[in-house]
Amino acid sequence: AAKHSGRKRHRFFKPDMNTAVISKMLIQQGVRDAMARNDLHLAYQPIVDLQSGEILGAEALIRWHHPEKGNIPPDSFIPLIEKTDLILPLTLWTLERACKDLTNHLLPRRPCFKLSVNISGAALKEQSIRDKIHQIISSYALPAHTLHLELTETSMMENIQSCADILYNWKGTGADIWIDDFGTGYSSLSYLHSLPIDGLKIDRSFITDITQIEGNQVVETIITLAHSLGIETISEGIETTIQQQFLQSRGGHYGQGYLFAKPAPLEQLTHILDKESVHEPL
Ligand code: C2E
Ligand code: MG
Ligand code: MG
Ligand code: MG
Repeated sequence: AAKHSGRKRHRFFKPDMNTAVISKMLIQQGVRDAMARNDLHLAYQPIVDLQSGEILGAEALIRWHHPEKGNIPPDSFIPLIEKTDLILPLTLWTLERACKDLTNHLLPRRPCFKLSVNISGAALKEQSIRDKIHQIISSYALPAHTLHLELTETSMMENIQSCADILYNWKGTGADIWIDDFGTGYSSLSYLHSLPIDGLKIDRSFITDITQIEGNQVVETIITLAHSLGIETISEGIETTIQQQFLQSRGGHYGQGYLFAKPAPLEQLTHILDKESVHEPL
């Protein structure tokens, strides 16, 4: 095939070729290699009950350790991979690995542990992802509501009607559905009640804004909205006790952030869980 595409290739690499296109190709190949070479890992960040201080669960976050370039943050490769077919095997890799760790290490320590996995909006259109989620949940015999699938608000709002149908179908797997980065995607609020949503993750940018105990009006409004919809909230990116206290006082359910713990390898999470079960709350 290389022979036949000789002319095409020449044309393809014309001098004005965009460097963004080149880096997209390099990253695509890099991720393919990383999957094959075992250079991908999951980090886990605890999610804490803001009222009791106890650990509810954790979010699985992908990590790529490149042999030469070192750690490559997900924000610099996931958005590119989302534009390619590779997002499907990558999403499935994350899901499978997360459920394996959940079954072997987390549920034995906490039978009610909730594990959040990020699902790219690109996967919404793939029937095979829904079936794979179902397959994994059945094969590991995961209890219902153990797995939280996080989808960004933006990806859901692209086509609300088909998204509602798809998510109702996904709910049949037993997983819960959460809206990630909520507040940044210009949701039509009137549509929210038509989606089978279990919770809202309030975007970090609003939490960062809470610098005084008076807090932030947007955050308060989102928490009130969630209460009125009968769903829960997780506040992302809590770094200060002022933020924690404000969210707690306004009825925020759960929180996640450097104040509690940074994302870290599985062993660190199991260590925290083992310590917590003795008597030390996080
Ligand atoms: P996200 O799902 O909104 O994840 C939360 C991000 O906030 C994580 O960044 C986390 O490390 C960071 N974070 C948590 N607490 C704090 C804090 O207190 N302060 C600050 N400054 N940051 C905090 P991370 O791990 O770099 O991931 C970035 C994004 O990449 C994620 O945002 C998610 O959209 C995407 N991503 C990560 N893993 C996966 C994955 O397995 N699949 C897919 N499709 N996307 C992923
Ligand atoms: Mg997330
Ligand atoms: Mg988020
Ligand atoms: Mg985010």
